[in-house]
Amino acid sequence: MKCIKCDNDSCVEIAYARQDLCSECFCRQVEKRVAKANHEFSLLRRGDKIAVGVSGGKDSAALLYILHNMAKRIGEIELIPIAVDEGIQGYRSKALVKAHELCNSLGLQLRVYSYREHLGASLDEMLSRERSMGACSYCGVFRKTLLNKAALEAGANKLAVGHNLDDVIQTFLMNLLRNDAVKLSRFGVASEGEAGLVPRIKPLVFVPERECALYATLRNLPFYLGECPHSSEAFRGVVKNFLNEAEEKHPGTKFALLNSFLSLKQVLPEMQVKQESTACKECGMPCAGNKCQACLYLCELKLSLTDSLR
Ligand code: SF4
Ligand code: ZN
Ligand code: ZN
Repeated sequence: MKCIKCDNDSCVEIAYARQDLCSECFCRQVEKRVAKANHEFSLLRRGDKIAVGVSGGKDSAALLYILHNMAKRIGEIELIPIAVDEGIQGYRSKALVKAHELCNSLGLQLRVYSYREHLGASLDEMLSRERSMGACSYCGVFRKTLLNKAALEAGANKLAVGHNLDDVIQTFLMNLLRNDAVKLSRFGVASEGEAGLVPRIKPLVFVPERECALYATLRNLPFYLGECPHSSEAFRGVVKNFLNEAEEKHPGTKFALLNSFLSLKQVLPEMQVKQESTACKECGMPCAGNKCQACLYLCELKLSLTDSLR
């Protein structure tokens, strides 16, 4: 089979677009999708200092590599790779080796923020304590909090995260299924910042998860393939399996759901759920009540902050 864009042999089949592509045309298509996201959502600007969340996995490897090349082309953009070490034995340490390898190859220095250093205990230690929730409920909140802290301390004006198309539609569907109107109205491709919160951008929004993995492989980027041992516990896993099955039987379902989300986003500002934000009395981060979610969880786990979260 030949590539539909050039004379080379194809090596990738894109079912939803009925395309057979060679590796170079496929990689260029992924890069064009990131450029499209940049264009549609005004993600990168000259003068930006962008913290890039790096995990050692395929998505953030593709993200950092593509942003690095885009930043060089646009000019006057500084990228600062940051990683969070949750302290999950047998998993994150291996992934961080790959993250360091990638950053070194791009001439960038990786900053690592660990749960143990900043929150007083690793995730593994937290999970051995009395608790009311599953691993991902704590981990998701702490991870977001530390990424924000790292971005603030780096002086970044944006935080780029490796959320791909699958991640975005999973979150959209989870918010719908949980009837969480506040999160639904706040969730977007480029979030607005507020005091203490660095605006987040998602340049991989148009790139499906499978294509991130293929891209990272075909571009020979170092990444760790292993999965977190807790990943199957999350509600996200249920939604992910459902969407994968729907896509398999009805190619194009994922892009259709993404388009529904983006169309809805255009009318959502009018139904934006207003929520007064105050400063957390423990750490000063913006939150809805007296304490932010991270401080509530730390309190439940009988931990206290080793330093401020902002
Ligand atoms: Fe944390 Fe859950 Fe992700 Fe593992 S799967 S890194 S526990 S949020
Ligand atoms: Zn080709
Ligand atoms: Zn707090």
